[in-house]
Amino acid sequence: MNPGPSAPPIAPGATIGILGSGQLGRMLAMAAARLGLKTHIYAPDPGPAFDVAAQHTLASYDDEAALAAFADSVAVVTYEFENVPAQTAAVLEAHRPVLPRPEALAATQDRLVEKQFLNGIGVATAPFMAVDDAGALARAVAQLGLPAILKTRRFGYDGKGQVMIREGADLENVFASIGAQPAILEGVVPFAREVSVVAARGRDGSFTAFDVCENEHENHILSLTRVPARIAHETSACAVAMTQRIMDALGYVGVICVEMFVVEATAPGVDRETLVVNEIAPRVHNSGHWSIDGAVTSQFEQHVRAICGWPLGSTRRHGEIEMRNLIGEDANRWRDILGESGASLHLYGKHEARSGRKMGHVTRIVGG
Ligand code: AMP
Repeated sequence: MNPGPSAPPIAPGATIGILGSGQLGRMLAMAAARLGLKTHIYAPDPGPAFDVAAQHTLASYDDEAALAAFADSVAVVTYEFENVPAQTAAVLEAHRPVLPRPEALAATQDRLVEKQFLNGIGVATAPFMAVDDAGALARAVAQLGLPAILKTRRFGYDGKGQVMIREGADLENVFASIGAQPAILEGVVPFAREVSVVAARGRDGSFTAFDVCENEHENHILSLTRVPARIAHETSACAVAMTQRIMDALGYVGVICVEMFVVEATAPGVDRETLVVNEIAPRVHNSGHWSIDGAVTSQFEQHVRAICGWPLGSTRRHGEIEMRNLIGEDANRWRDILGESGASLHLYGKHEARSGRKMGHVTRIVGG
């Protein structure tokens, strides 16, 4: 059940259904509340989104009766993570629109399918080969060379389910180390920077992008986002155009994040940057958190606008911005951050500061 461009917009006062109870769901619910909308969170585990939503359902993603009741209680269903099972989306779609469309989940849940989709629409990725067993890994290594990165096809995030393979590695052991499951081998991209484009597409095909973000990771977890990215103007324009091509191809509605590598190609007489897409997140994204305090419309509000059939908002930035994640014990510095003029603190209300856990973030406008 998908609303066409002519379907009536959802009115303030309606309820949006969100799958997932994490901080992304929490910030979506807060943005929805500001616009007079209610939210109903559905998740198998309690999380920070439960604290700020009018309603929640604690049930598994294969509980079809609970899914049907949830869908019937909302005007539209969206999600804060990409591993929504296909059957869950199908059950929900029989009752209410699911946006972004489940086709976007199918195209992005599996790294092999995702890369084939991207190459099919003319978007560059790292060179890759499918690897289903240790023998296929040996053939892929012979073809792509080393070093290379082996990644599970599904359920990888924050560097989980991937391993760098160097000369001399025992390939049987390497394949076993990722759980001997379907994978892809990727060539290593010699990137100068990692950037992301957070953009929105409305039900009517309207499109807006935030300025390109530059991202730094520590231990595979996003640590710092800077906006604007320190890349050439033409590179930014190309990154945004690529994102729009991806969204149009998927008939996408909502906010997306496309993560890319910037490669500096310096051949004699040539000095330019090229872009290679690493992965697509069919949802709001950590690298867009700066937009809450640093742009006219946040990524969360933009997502709500898009799925409700409302006009998209301005993505104009308030200056040069830095967003830093507060991981684990970092969040214990909350008092110092509160005392800092110009710092906007966000805490997600998680009880336990386990190492590697995203506890909050802080946004600073560092320049005009
Ligand atoms: P991913 O789980 O695909 O987002 O990868 C996590 C991080 O590993 C990326 O943000 C990069 O820093 C690095 N990485 C992943 N794939 C490649 C690649 N093909 N070449 C170089 N670095 C990579």
